[in-house]
Amino acid sequence: MKGIIELVERGTEFIKKNPQISYTILLTILIPAAFIFTSEQFLSIAKENQDRLERGRVGAMLDAFAVLTRWRIVDVVSLSADMRELREQNPSLVRLRVIGPSDDGVSRVILASADQQEIGNPFNPDSTLSLILSTAEKIPEQSIVTQVVEDGERRWRAVRVVPGVQNTFLIADVSMVQADQEAEQAIRDAYLMLVPIVGLILILLARHAKIIDYASLYQRLAEVDRMKDDFVSMAAHELRAPLSVIRGYVEMAQDPSVSVSQRQEFLSRIGASAKQLNTLVEDILDVSRLQEGRMAFSMRPIDPSQVIVEVVNAFMLSAKEKGLLLSYEAKTLPEVLLDPDRFRQVMTNLIGNAVKYTSHGSVTISAESDGVEVVIRVSDTGPGISAQDQAKLFSKFYRVRNETTRDIPGTGLGLWITREIVRQMKGEISVESITGKGTDFIVRLPVLSGTA
Ligand code: ADP
Repeated sequence: MKGIIELVERGTEFIKKNPQISYTILLTILIPAAFIFTSEQFLSIAKENQDRLERGRVGAMLDAFAVLTRWRIVDVVSLSADMRELREQNPSLVRLRVIGPSDDGVSRVILASADQQEIGNPFNPDSTLSLILSTAEKIPEQSIVTQVVEDGERRWRAVRVVPGVQNTFLIADVSMVQADQEAEQAIRDAYLMLVPIVGLILILLARHAKIIDYASLYQRLAEVDRMKDDFVSMAAHELRAPLSVIRGYVEMAQDPSVSVSQRQEFLSRIGASAKQLNTLVEDILDVSRLQEGRMAFSMRPIDPSQVIVEVVNAFMLSAKEKGLLLSYEAKTLPEVLLDPDRFRQVMTNLIGNAVKYTSHGSVTISAESDGVEVVIRVSDTGPGISAQDQAKLFSKFYRVRNETTRDIPGTGLGLWITREIVRQMKGEISVESITGKGTDFIVRLPVLSGTA
């Protein structure tokens, strides 16, 4: 039962994610079904028409024969010979009889027949046939044609009185087997014709599904293309800024008149800009490593608190310079299987962003565990992120564009890299934010069992 529910859930999820596939499957079922339904309708109408024609034909044949019988009834031997000949010419005519009163005037006998051996036999009709005979007596000028099943086949039974001869009837049984076989052949032919038509529709639907696929692919490509453009201009800016700083300080340092202490100062600025450039290059390399699954992780059990303390300390100075209160109440946490360098990168991105995007207030880091997972929260009192932006935040190259963030440099790669690394370490990252109030990034990592 649980398995079925899971299967249904997965199916629903798949349909939600791939509406074009569900649409195609629906059309693939509906269109051939509509074709088959329409064909069935046509065929049943055609069969009804054919039955009606056949019935008329049988009645007309008996009417014609009745006129002949009227004059030949006196010589039942030659009449029976004619009947036999008629049956030989019409193989579907199974039985042809003339029924009349017996000598006692009460019961009935077979007066003439296409089957010679039954001539003179008593004729005892069942209740249905008796009813038909009495009806035929009331409308002597026409044949009554009904459908019967005898010897496992459908037959038309035509009954009428012999005109001008009292209490005498003509009964003919005509097999419908041949007509049924022809109808079945026609149905088979119709279905055979349906196969290439349905095939053609399926091919068209498959192409249609491809077109929908291409359309959504095109949309995604256009989005990626736009993001790439943004990235190129961003990267150009990110490269140019530190490079011009480096060029300027190198020129100044080459001036023989600058003092040793000034030169030291220039060199440290050159070093900072080089570090900035290095971060950018590293980010780009990380993206390609993660995409191609080439990023190496050397996992070992560690208390995440140690790394958090290190990163918080590294940002203390820049936070202080911005007038921000950066705090983390260090506590011992259960061990988690982590690559310490990669986890440092995660915390550096999150705390770095919080410090970078918050202009006043505080950046608070907290970490706690319920024994199953460690939950790390990086909270700031910065500009916040709208729900619309939150949905795209972890996409590659995505940067929030508004008044507050416009002048803050960045590549839009940090959060994508962060999420990928967290996932590699079997964790999850999420964001909670209220515009104008601040943002919380939450990282959940599974506790190494037995260490809680
Ligand atoms: P980058 O900071 O290089 O632009 P990220 O991937 O790290 O790239 O972040 C993506 C975007 O998310 C940023 O451009 C920024 O607008 C927004 N963002 C990230 N962290 C915060 C935060 N703490 N407060 C407000 N906005 C943030």
